[in-house]
Parts: sequence; C-alpha cells; structure tokens
Amino acid sequence: MTTRAEENLLDWLRDAHAMEEQAEKMLTKTAERLENYPELKARIQQHIEETRRQAQMVRGCIERLGGDTSAVKDATAKMMAMAQGMSGMFVSDEVVKASLASYAFEHMEIASYRALIAAAELCGDVETQRVCEQILPEEEAMANWLAERLPGTVQKFLARDETPDTTAKH
Ligand code: MG
Ligand code: FE
Repeated sequence: MTTRAEENLLDWLRDAHAMEEQAEKMLTKTAERLENYPELKARIQQHIEETRRQAQMVRGCIERLGGDTSAVKDATAKMMAMAQGMSGMFVSDEVVKASLASYAFEHMEIASYRALIAAAELCGDVETQRVCEQILPEEEAMANWLAERLPGTVQKFLARDETPDTTAKH
C-alpha cells in the first residue's frame, strides 16, 4: 500500500533526478567552454563528479521505492541544459552569466533536498532522508564557493574586457 505522501515523495525524487541530469549537462557545457578562469573550471569539474554520484544515489532511492526514473523529465531537463549552455555562445559576458545561473541552480537544489528531507522524514523513509542529508552539504558548499568567488570572477572579467586582444567571456 502506497500512501499519497509516498507518491509525492517518489515524484519529487524523480524531479530531483531530472534536476541532477540537467546540472551535469549544464556544468559540463560550462566547464568545456571556460579557458581563462581555471579555478572556476576546476571547481565545476569537481562538482560534476559530485553531481553524477548524486544522480546515482537519488536513482537508488527511486528504485528502492519501486519506481523508475522518468525518461520524459530527464530528457526535458537535458534539453533545458543544452539551451542554457548554448546561450553562452551568444552573450559577451558568458562567465558572469554562467556564475549567476550556477549560483541560482545550486539554491534550487538546496531547496529541493530540504523539501525531500522533510517529506522522507514524514514518510519514515530513513534511507532517503539519509541520502538527501548527505547530498545537501555538497550543494551548499558549491553555492557558498560560487558566492565567495563571484566578486573575483566579475572583476577579472571586467579587467580582461578592458584589455585589447584578450578573451574575457570564457
Ligand atoms: Mg546536485
Ligand atoms: Fe549541485
């Protein structure tokens, strides 16, 4: 017997899985294009590894609850990530836009895992709660890192943008 709460929990886990698929695509596109911001690139590459593990862990929760991941949600998320990644090609301040988008995205993830922790707790799903409590600090750490580095990234971009024959955008 599945309760309404458990159905909602499973649905939100599918959303979280799609979100992680989107994150992986978006971060990969961004890291690929960055050339002049090596610290940002390295931190993003580290978070891509974390993101892949998170997607696996969330999938484990879905399967344990007897569900499967939503191909439709995952495909939509990947298409959104593709559009987001490609938009960098058309803006002159790509690294700044990517920093803002990543910061916002990490906060979406933080809110999602907080919601999942509360839902799992109510359902008595100890394992899902534990998994989400393990993922949450990785998202917080990434969000904090991006916030700390944003002023430096912006100032470096502005300085490079003033310099002739220098690529600033990525
Ligand atoms: Mg994540
Ligand atoms: Fe993240």
